[in-house]
Amino acid sequence: MLDWFIPDGVFRDVTDIPESWFLSRGIEGIVLDIDNTIAKYSEMLPPKSSLDWLGRIRDAGIKAVVVSNNKHSGRVQKMSEAMGVRYIYRASKPSKKGFEWAAKAMGIPLKKIAAIGDQIFTDICGAKRSGCYAVIVYPRGIDENFLFRLRRAVEIPFISVARKKVEREK
Ligand SMILES: [Mg+2]
Repeated sequence: MLDWFIPDGVFRDVTDIPESWFLSRGIEGIVLDIDNTIAKYSEMLPPKSSLDWLGRIRDAGIKAVVVSNNKHSGRVQKMSEAMGVRYIYRASKPSKKGFEWAAKAMGIPLKKIAAIGDQIFTDICGAKRSGCYAVIVYPRGIDENFLFRLRRAVEIPFISVARKKVEREK
C-alpha cells in the first residue's frame, strides 16, 4: 500500500518530462492535473511553455486528458479547451473515478497511462491505486502560498524514496 504514495518519476516541471520517458515505458496516454501542474492558480489559461510541451508529447503519438479536482467547471473547461483535450472536474482524486474515466475516454488501458501532478496524496495516490504510472512535479507557483510549502514538507519523504528508486532503475 505504501507503493500508492511513491511516484514512478520525479521532475522539476511538467515541461521537463521528455517524450522518451513515456515511450520507453509503453505509455500511450497521459492524465494531466491542471492546478500548479499545467498552470499556476493565478493563471487563467495554460502558459505557452505547457502548450508547447503538450504539442511535442502529442506529436509523439501520446494522447492526453485532464483530470482535475477543481470544483469550478469554468476554469477546467477553459484550460482544457486551450489545450484541446477532454476533461473531468471534481474528480475527487485519490478516487479512481477520474482515472477510469480517462482510460475509457482515451481507449487505453490504465497500465498504459501515466498521470502527472503536483500532489502525492491526490494525483500520485489516485494514479497508483488505479494501476497507472505516476509522475510528480514541483508545484508551479508554490511560493505564492504558505500552506503549499507546509504540504510539501509532508510529501518530501515520499519524493525522496521515489528519487532513489528512479536512480536505481537508471
Ligand atoms: Mg495540482
